[in-house]
Amino acid sequence: MSFHKILDQPTAVRTLQSAIVKGRVAHAYLFVGPSGVGRKLTATTFAEALNCRTFRDGNSCGTCADCRLIAEGKHPDVQTIMPTKRSSTITVEQVENLLPFAYMKPLKGKCKVFVISEADRLGSSSANKLLKTLEEPPPSTVFVLVTERPESVLPTVASRCQPVKFGRLRTDTVADILASEFGVDRERAAVAAELADGQITRGLLFADTKRFEAVTCILESLGSVSARIQAYERLQELLAEERARLEDEAEHKIVVPGEVLTSGMKTALEDLRKSFIDRNYREFLNDCLGLLLTLYRDILVLKETNAEELILNRDKVGSLRTYARALSLPAVRENMKVIEEITVYCSHYVGEDRAFLDLLLRLREPVEG
Ligand SMILES: [Zn+2]
Repeated sequence: MSFHKILDQPTAVRTLQSAIVKGRVAHAYLFVGPSGVGRKLTATTFAEALNCRTFRDGNSCGTCADCRLIAEGKHPDVQTIMPTKRSSTITVEQVENLLPFAYMKPLKGKCKVFVISEADRLGSSSANKLLKTLEEPPPSTVFVLVTERPESVLPTVASRCQPVKFGRLRTDTVADILASEFGVDRERAAVAAELADGQITRGLLFADTKRFEAVTCILESLGSVSARIQAYERLQELLAEERARLEDEAEHKIVVPGEVLTSGMKTALEDLRKSFIDRNYREFLNDCLGLLLTLYRDILVLKETNAEELILNRDKVGSLRTYARALSLPAVRENMKVIEEITVYCSHYVGEDRAFLDLLLRLREPVEG
C-alpha cells in the first residue's frame, strides 16, 4: 500500500516518507493520536516502504513479495504486539519474546519493524525491558509505538522515540471509508460520519442500525402515550447496554499491570475507571441526542426549503417528509429547543433517566392533516 492511500494525515505521511527518502529513519517512533484515524495502517505502510524491493518516489510497490506479506501480516521481519485479552497489558514475556529478533539480521526483508500497539499499556517492567534496546538500538530495526494516551507512556521510553502526530479525519473521509471499507449504506454512512468526530471507530458505532433505530423510535413514538413509554423503555435498554459495554472496556483498558495493589492504589484505579465510564457515557448520551437533533434539523430544512439534497438522514426522507407535513414550524423549533436543553442537562448530570423521560414528555407531537 502506498502512502497516497493514507487519508487526512499529511504531517505524519510527510515525516515518514521524507525520513526514508533522505535515509534518516529514526530507531523508534511514537505514533500519537486518537484511535480510528489510521495509525496502524500507517505503521503497516511504513513497514512496507522500509522493506519494498522496488521502492520508488517515496512509495512501496504493493506487489512484491515483501509488500504482500506485510500487508497480510505474515512477514517474519514485521511483528506487532498488543495487550493480551487476559492480562489487558503488554506483558514482560511478550517483550522478551520480541527482543531477540531485534538483535538478529532481517530474516527476509531489509528492515525489522516492531509495532507496539497501545504502548501506554506497557507495564513498568515491560517498558524497562524495552528501554534497554531503545537506548542502544540494534541496526536495521525500527520500533513503532502507537498510543492515544502519550501521557501514560513511560517518559524514559517516550523520550527515545520520535513523535509523529495523527489528527482526526474529515467528515467526508469518514463517510467514504465507512461505505467503501465497511459496507455501510452510503446514506447512513453520511449521517454516522457527521457524528463520528473524525474517527472511524466512532463512525462505526453510529452506523450501527440498532442504535440509530432506538433514537429514531423517539421521533416515531410521539403519536401516542403508550408508544412514548415504549420508546422510553427501548432507550433505557440501549443506555444500559452501553453502560455495560463501557464498564467492560474500563476494566480491560485501565489496569495496573501485575503488581500487588495497596488499598490506596485500588481506590485510585476505581476512580480512574469511574471517570472513564462517566466521561464516555456522557459523550454517548450527547451523541444520541445529537442524532435526534439531526432528525429535527432535517424536518426543519424540509419545511423551510424543501431541499432534499440538504438533509442529513437521506435514508429517512420518506418519514421525514411525513413529519414535516404534520408538525408546525413552531413545534419543530420548540422540539429542537427541548433537545438542546436536555443535552445541556445531560452534560452536567448523569441522571439521564429523568432527562430522557422529560424529553419524551415534552416533545410536541405531530397533528395530522
Ligand atoms: Zn514492494
